[in-house]
Amino acid sequence: MSLLFGSGKEKPEILTTSVSFSGIEFEVLKNGASNNHYIWLHGDERTANMALMHHLNHYDGTAFLIKSDEREVAYQDTKIDPNRIFSRPGSFRALKKFKPEWAPGMLKKALDELDQNREQFLSILFPDSGGILIAVHNNFRGYNLKSELKNCTKVSINPKENPRDFIICTDPDDFDKLSVGHYNVLLQDQPPKEDDGSLSWAAFRNGIRYVNIETRLGWLSQQKKMLKFIEERLN
Ligand SMILES: [Zn+2]
Repeated sequence: MSLLFGSGKEKPEILTTSVSFSGIEFEVLKNGASNNHYIWLHGDERTANMALMHHLNHYDGTAFLIKSDEREVAYQDTKIDPNRIFSRPGSFRALKKFKPEWAPGMLKKALDELDQNREQFLSILFPDSGGILIAVHNNFRGYNLKSELKNCTKVSINPKENPRDFIICTDPDDFDKLSVGHYNVLLQDQPPKEDDGSLSWAAFRNGIRYVNIETRLGWLSQQKKMLKFIEERLN
């Protein structure tokens, strides 16, 4: 019962600040001195938020939490998926998705602005000294690990695990450490044919150890366990 009632440890001191990427606001919670960073990017993926908050109460690290209840966030007079703006080609598609027509020159201006602010944001988001960036996501519909196989160089699939619960990593050594467990693990350590603007490829391009934990929405205990597994295997 120690998990429910605490193990006698004091509640951690969590420092709160915030950071913004072109007006997209993130709350930053820092617990202790670990250089592991966490990010929750989609406001409608509540399970991932709860799993991450739980995790940060038990382990050191810095969490970046988007200030949004919805998947897309406001940008100028349109909205964008915050996980599609981590490259210029991805941003181009994201900006046109809900606003196909832009006044002359305005789309280029927005792309230039995102390029500039992205660098700034990533310099804060990316951990230093070999720390890991861990993203937490949930899926609701048909999305599962099969959608990712075309971009993988190695996979470790457990048929007893649900294909909608899986881990993606970008570092081959991390893959070796994670694939000894019973979870589905995918290695993506080659650039994709088409960069969709997701954070994973930006982390990969910059040589950052990146891990994405994807679970079904609502499967909180599963996502908590996967976070704990990664924490224990990769530290
Ligand atoms: Zn997501």
